[in-house]
Amino acid sequence: MFARRPIRVGERVWRVDDSRTATPDDIARVEHRETDARLDYYPERTVLLPFPHGTFNHSCDPNAYDFWAADGARYKVARRDIAAGEEVTTDYSINSWGDDTWRCNCVAQRCRRDIEIDLFALPDEFLREYLPLLASWYRHAFAEQVAAAERRPGLRQDS
Ligand SMILES: [Zn+2]
Repeated sequence: MFARRPIRVGERVWRVDDSRTATPDDIARVEHRETDARLDYYPERTVLLPFPHGTFNHSCDPNAYDFWAADGARYKVARRDIAAGEEVTTDYSINSWGDDTWRCNCVAQRCRRDIEIDLFALPDEFLREYLPLLASWYRHAFAEQVAAAERRPGLRQDS
């Protein structure tokens, strides 16, 4: 997904359609790459993001993040200015959990290479940036882990 025009920091880039709960059949097809859709995960349900909603790539230094508005609508929001022609990316570890891992080939200088999807496995320098971006549903579902992360010596706001 690439920006067709310059996007300012804080601007909503795209409204994500995550209204469709995935069925076991959808999950099987997506996992076997037989569809252009992508799965995304909430604690209570798995959603099937139809093309092109699931086409945002991961970056270890992303220029966007997911934001849920008060009405529950989900948006990609610019976390810094994005130039026309620049790829719009998010870090898949934000609002994520579990034990999935993969090899990252993003071109960011701070690429973590061996990616663990679990937010709480991130180095402090990443957590410091990402904790303020967490969705309220994630903070609620992982309240104890978020509180523990915020108490880490390197992340305390008062230090
Ligand atoms: Zn990377």
